[in-house]
Amino acid sequence: MARPTPAERRRLARHAARRRQIAGSLEEWRASAFDNALVQFDAAARRLRLTENQIAMIKLPRRITEARLPVRMDDGSIHNFRAFRVQHNIARGPAKGGIRFHQDVTVDEMKALAFWMTYKCAVVGIPMGGAKGGVVVDPRTLSLGERERLSRRYIAEMIDLFGPDRDVPAPDVNTGPQVMSWMMDTYSMHKHDFVPGVITGKPLVLGGSAGRESATSRGIVFCIRKAAARLGLELRGATAAIQGFGNVGRYSARFLAEAGVRVVAISDIEGAWHDPAGIDVGAAMAHAARRGSLRGFRGGTPLRRAARLLELPVDILVPAALENQITERNAPRVRARIVAEGANGPTTPRADALLERAGVLVIPDILCNAGGVTVSYLEWVQNRMGYYWTEARVIEDLRRIMDSAFDEVDATRRRRRVSMRIAAFMVAIRRVTEASEMRGLYA
Ligand code: GLU
Repeated sequence: MARPTPAERRRLARHAARRRQIAGSLEEWRASAFDNALVQFDAAARRLRLTENQIAMIKLPRRITEARLPVRMDDGSIHNFRAFRVQHNIARGPAKGGIRFHQDVTVDEMKALAFWMTYKCAVVGIPMGGAKGGVVVDPRTLSLGERERLSRRYIAEMIDLFGPDRDVPAPDVNTGPQVMSWMMDTYSMHKHDFVPGVITGKPLVLGGSAGRESATSRGIVFCIRKAAARLGLELRGATAAIQGFGNVGRYSARFLAEAGVRVVAISDIEGAWHDPAGIDVGAAMAHAARRGSLRGFRGGTPLRRAARLLELPVDILVPAALENQITERNAPRVRARIVAEGANGPTTPRADALLERAGVLVIPDILCNAGGVTVSYLEWVQNRMGYYWTEARVIEDLRRIMDSAFDEVDATRRRRRVSMRIAAFMVAIRRVTEASEMRGLYA
């Protein structure tokens, strides 16, 4: 990949500004994702009547690591990238969670995302804890070689944090199978062993799992099916808008279209495209694969304000981009019946309350997008056995795990008369608390 020209850099800066606008008010953009996460935790903890000591063991992150990663750039200069790994909780198993490359990464965001991973793993019952990592970088400004050196340095610099029984990273925003391969290789070279179980989301040839790439979206669509059944909404002929066209957004669009849903709007960092007759999702995916983004896509009318996608009159809205997208400003204009949170933390607590009052069925992130980490877990299991399953088997396990998690959360919602989000946290927090108490406090 060539270095960006000054014009390209200006274009990227314009995008950053536009993304901030999408978040609504500047205050809400700056709103702390971790504070939002704690609002959710506190609401569930109150209903569970957790003691102060129980809360002390499971609420805050256990370990926050910040590093500067010196990387030699193609022009010979050395750039120090700011990087983080936050391990939130390891009561139920090794820490688990992705690594994102994004220019807006902050330690606060990492804390929130690591927190959500703890409860995401617990809500679907996979035996792992929560972590998240990130590097402050716009990866579009890096050449392939720079991206590789940065990925390797990330692992090398913090190598003692990681291990198949310690902390197992995975892909997240702007990272994928290639970055995972470099990271797995770096770890393996240091250990003088082949250690595929140190990281998930690898390509198939290096011990990845069949079905991992599309797992998050499959899980989202399993949840949407259940939610639609509850509302008596027929998926065939229903409409959907999808924000974000990365790994999660594009496969969600595809699986929804395959289920007979008319996907009327899609978006990515370049803008949003709308076609009430339905976007040709296959064409959009091919365009994005060819061009690296939806820029120049002609299969719909570009929306002047990309965030208007969230306000379209659709049955299903899938925010699958970043945090804090549905805020108290735009929540009153959301017209979907189901909001399926593909992203982590796309809805602020105030917006959440507004949607709840309006009777919108919000499938919370820690349940809705847990398919990714669920198949990550299946990948880790396969790595440890050295035996690999067919895609059909992986999808079957994923369906069983997602469906039973949805049913359990839904039953708690009904029994305790709370939102799906609070119910999901109640199920998850109970599991983490029990594990933590059974282990007890050492020393
Ligand atoms: N990054 C994904 C998430 O936020 C997947 C994490 C994983 O597979 O460990 O859930």
